[in-house]
Amino acid sequence: MARFLVTGGAGYVGSHLVLTLLERGDEVVVFDNLRTGHRSAVSPGARFVKGDLADPVALEAVLADGRWDGLFHFAALSLVGESMREPMRYLSENAGNGFALIQAAVRHEVPRFVLSSTANIFGSADTPTLAETAVIEPASAYGESKRMIERALLWADRVHGLRSACLRYFNAAGADPRGRLGEDHRPETHLIPLAIDAALGRIPELTIFGDDYDTPDGTCIRDYVHVCDLADAHIRVLDRLDHASVSYNLGNGAGHSVRQVLESVAASLGRDVPARIGPRRAGDPPRLVACSDLIKAEAGWAPRFADLREIVDHAAAWRLEHPYGYG
Ligand code: UDP
Repeated sequence: MARFLVTGGAGYVGSHLVLTLLERGDEVVVFDNLRTGHRSAVSPGARFVKGDLADPVALEAVLADGRWDGLFHFAALSLVGESMREPMRYLSENAGNGFALIQAAVRHEVPRFVLSSTANIFGSADTPTLAETAVIEPASAYGESKRMIERALLWADRVHGLRSACLRYFNAAGADPRGRLGEDHRPETHLIPLAIDAALGRIPELTIFGDDYDTPDGTCIRDYVHVCDLADAHIRVLDRLDHASVSYNLGNGAGHSVRQVLESVAASLGRDVPARIGPRRAGDPPRLVACSDLIKAEAGWAPRFADLREIVDHAAAWRLEHPYGYG
């Protein structure tokens, strides 16, 4: 049995990872300030510690509590749009907390560090999909803040031998297929849950952020990857870290436009998605689609839920069952 610390384990992707670790029989400690996470998203088998990464005493206390086989770092501000209104907050909080955590991990000889990073560190590309070798040019302050942590991890490996995996997610979506966990952001800003809410009449309509992009239907194209496939990838990379630090893209490799997502939600629920066209959102590249060949080749990862409709069905099932999210 291995023992892991998960920062942000009460959040969307983190909570799905915690459940997967527990199902493997691992011991899990969740460290989360519950600012955006939910206590009831933390599966009962995990130990929960309420604390903030910006609090050095709390951080030291949790890391000093026993021996660790690895650490998964999810806790962060994560909204592209917000980061373009408050860039300095994103840079100082996300990067500052990340640096403090890396230092603490080195101090306590944590052997492996897995970072929840983002495709937003890449700018737009001319190629159909983005490989790990694509030019890094963060499109938002959020992406920049993750890039800064990635750079710090490089130095932590070089100088202290801390092995790390930077997992650059494309668009996390869906929910636990058994309906135990789902997506509940407050306020919700993500496309799929908002489209579901619009179809169910919980919000009057969805605003499409721009239909004048250089894409086939004019709306932005993203790569939606199932949250359980992301969780699975976190576990698969652990073994790789015995050899070297890695950076991997994590996506389905298929791009879907905002309009295609709305069609999928409408088909899943059997209802129209009321929508209007609004202005572009700052920080949004027109197209972000992953080439995830590296993690497939090196860690044997492949998405189990690659079909957009299946991803939307899982998200819709959870939202229908939990109209008030985690309550
Ligand atoms: N989007 C939109 N309307 C919304 C929310 C999102 O048109 O109310 C678009 C957004 O511009 C992007 C895509 O949907 O092209 C996915 O956005 P989301 O916020 O879900 O994820 P992000 O790409 O920011 O990680």
